[in-house]
Amino acid sequence: MENHLKLTYSGVLAKYGELLDIPAHTQPVTLLEGNTPLIPMPRLAQELGGGFELWVKFEGMNPTGSFKDRGMTVAISEAVGRGVQAVICASTGNTAASAAAYAARAGRRAVVIIPQGKVAAGKLAGAVAYGAEVIQIDGSFDDALNLVLEISQHYPIALVNSLNPYRLEGQKTAAFEICDVLGSAPDWLCLPVGNAGNITSYWMGFKQYQDLRHTGLPHILGVQAAGSAPLVLGHPVEHPETVATAIRIGRPARGEQALQAAEESGGRIMAVSDDEILAMQRQLAASGVWVEPASAAGLAGLKHELLAGRLDLKGQRVVAVCTGHGLKDPDIIVRQFTAPKMLPAELAALEDAIMGGGRK
Ligand SMILES: *Cc1c(COP(=O)(O)O)cnc(C)c1O
Repeated sequence: MENHLKLTYSGVLAKYGELLDIPAHTQPVTLLEGNTPLIPMPRLAQELGGGFELWVKFEGMNPTGSFKDRGMTVAISEAVGRGVQAVICASTGNTAASAAAYAARAGRRAVVIIPQGKVAAGKLAGAVAYGAEVIQIDGSFDDALNLVLEISQHYPIALVNSLNPYRLEGQKTAAFEICDVLGSAPDWLCLPVGNAGNITSYWMGFKQYQDLRHTGLPHILGVQAAGSAPLVLGHPVEHPETVATAIRIGRPARGEQALQAAEESGGRIMAVSDDEILAMQRQLAASGVWVEPASAAGLAGLKHELLAGRLDLKGQRVVAVCTGHGLKDPDIIVRQFTAPKMLPAELAALEDAIMGGGRK
């Protein structure tokens, strides 16, 4: 039995806990997050001009459908280890679902504060399904964040927004996994940038592995949506707008660190249009990988730079991080299609529709 348990994958804390800067009181709460597939994408690489190797790190395969689970397992494990009975976050998206799931796993309360305005039901479904207490306030996301911060400072309720440093520690594990699978860091890593915690974590992770295992360092291409690109514009965006809701953030909490990561790595942070994001979402799906819009931004940026002749990838290895699953945002897809047409339940009608009348 013991042997069997050792051979079984037990989540990112069990696998990489020694490499994370976390307190000794941490008490693992896991849903076996991490260990996500690194999928080779030879056809997509060809479509983008060829001559390089391309993989997708499909983070949508985490337990709640996004990479947020890597950080959340660590944040909740730390909170539970110091006796916290409840966690709180401000979110309308993947953070809420992940916090709700890990709190449920630990048998703790999860409180999710959502801002006033149009709330995407699909994105909140997870939080509700896992039993979180969802409270809406008559204010913005920034108001919500300020309030949860205040509450977490005055009550034994742990803040699990990405201001929580353990979230970043957990998210480093994706960089470790990529190096472990490829045997070294890729030449380029591209990924979407919203609040900028993830790009910061990847860079921390790659640098740590380079120090320990000499796995090399990638250039990092961080990609924002044009309507929500504070790091490209150089100033906060008051009313960010993009279909890629997971990166619709006008004041990134880790903006400085993200810019530094991009620069230190010899990469950059750029922006792409919503059309480019949706086109790449379709192009990825055409190779069998369906991701939510934000998750296609990294590759959309890579494609943009290749088309502009600003990137020479000859003979290089590229990893694109696809941060969340397409099922998170089905409305985007449904909107792009007309309803399926209705035919009589008759063979002839179907044959006609499928084979264009020609019986072969
Ligand atoms: C949170 C999230 C992002 C943005 O990550 P940051 O760390 O905020 O930059 C991108 N894609 C998905 C699917 C997310 O859930």
